Amino acid sequence: MVNYEEILRLARDCGFTAAAKLDISTLEFLPEVREMCAADKCNMYNKTWACPPACGSLEEMEKKVRGYHDAILVQTVGELEDSLDWEGIRETGDAQAKNFARLEAELAKRYPNLWAMGTGACTKCKKCTYPDAPCRFPDQLFSSMEACGLYVSKVCTDNGLPYNYGPNKLAYSACFLLE
Ligand code: SF4
Repeated sequence: MVNYEEILRLARDCGFTAAAKLDISTLEFLPEVREMCAADKCNMYNKTWACPPACGSLEEMEKKVRGYHDAILVQTVGELEDSLDWEGIRETGDAQAKNFARLEAELAKRYPNLWAMGTGACTKCKKCTYPDAPCRFPDQLFSSMEACGLYVSKVCTDNGLPYNYGPNKLAYSACFLLE
């Protein structure tokens, strides 16, 4: 039985701005999100083990999610000077990565089958081994919510968190499935 009050407090203690219980039935693994990945705007499609297509098919995601009953959604919200504040965008991304690593380490102690979905591509290694050799750190690899096929703004609004926090605010989201 997950004590959500405790887990959501832990998420905020790890630095996240917002945290909410995530209803797993709201998770939809959508082909249109995969099409956005395939458009390769982030320049990471087919370049790491954690990104599509290597991270697994939508059918595999659907099958995997059936093993989970509890989950949380977390966000790091940053303040920007304006929409071209690249330093602010980078700082918010760095804060999200740090918060994510801290919370993942804590939750992994409690939930051995933790499934963490983060933000952005895996950048653990300077050069990913994909596709020539297996992942160097398969236990530490995680995919982004988008890479898994989730439409992040919909997951947020379906679970009571805003996706858009207003002008000059930027929110990065992640989720943790607990088992
Ligand atoms: S841990 Fe390294 S080898 Fe594995 S997906 Fe990430 S960058 Fe690639």
